[in-house]
Amino acid sequence: MDLRLNGRAYLVTGASSGVGLATARLLLDEGCAVAACARDGDRLTAALGPDTDRLLTGAADVRDPEAVRSLTERAAGRFGRLDGVVNNAGRSLMAPWNGTSRDQWRAELELKLFSVLNTVEAALPWLGASDGPSVVNVNAILARQPEPALAATSAARAALLNLTRTLATDLGPRGIRVNSVSLGLIDTGQWRRRHREDGGKHDYTAWSAALAADRGIPMGRLGTAEEVAFPVVTLLSPRSAYVTGATLDVGGGVSRYA
Ligand code: NDP
Repeated sequence: MDLRLNGRAYLVTGASSGVGLATARLLLDEGCAVAACARDGDRLTAALGPDTDRLLTGAADVRDPEAVRSLTERAAGRFGRLDGVVNNAGRSLMAPWNGTSRDQWRAELELKLFSVLNTVEAALPWLGASDGPSVVNVNAILARQPEPALAATSAARAALLNLTRTLATDLGPRGIRVNSVSLGLIDTGQWRRRHREDGGKHDYTAWSAALAADRGIPMGRLGTAEEVAFPVVTLLSPRSAYVTGATLDVGGGVSRYA
């Protein structure tokens, strides 16, 4: 099926690893131009390769509005258009509510909520000029199913879910769609780090299988980054033209809400 993405241009944040990297690669495979960012520019280039006429990489922290604006302007200048944004950059903070400092609460909001305002504000002029603009926010099932061990991350995710609906409502009349995917446990750098922090006693395969069993994931395993990239790219596609304000769970059935 032709997703009608060929020739379009997208900004993908957090594209040096995991979901962002898989999404950037899939968009490139679909014939799109991609502007990709992460804080570590060298790791980004190592992951995606050198810039081409369809790839622009830039070291940028999504919490920094000026860095985001500058990259967005460079991307739109280079590609002559910007049709969408994938707000993916992030990581989780393992801490209970009463073990989270005020600075950490604020940092979670900077990373998970204000970063989305930064990209959307920067991209808005070009999204408004696109014939099929779409924003996808990579969120977590934690937004609706908070975990006490991830208190600030869960709250920030809930705020992003709420903001996604606000943006969809407000930007819908301009034809700009805003959706999110809510992730369960996806096998990326995040879990590899967690495995190392856990002492790395068992090999990663056994450790992640035990994790999936412990969390009661009906599919019996963690998901892959590619299994997230496909629904993200589908939501970007102009073929999804009537889907906005929606949240698609990508969690192997782990969510417990109806
Ligand atoms: P990874 O750790 O594999 O990749 C995270 C990416 O984000 C890296 O490219 C990293 O590069 C970048 N990044 C982190 N902070 C910033 C920042 N401030 N500015 C710009 N880039 C940044 O993560 P995943 O692929 O697992 O996660 C992708 C998204 O999905 C995240 O938002 C995560 O919270 C969410 N998620 C993941 C789940 C999972 O199980 N994997 C579950 C639920 C949600 P660098 O460090 O160089 O900046």
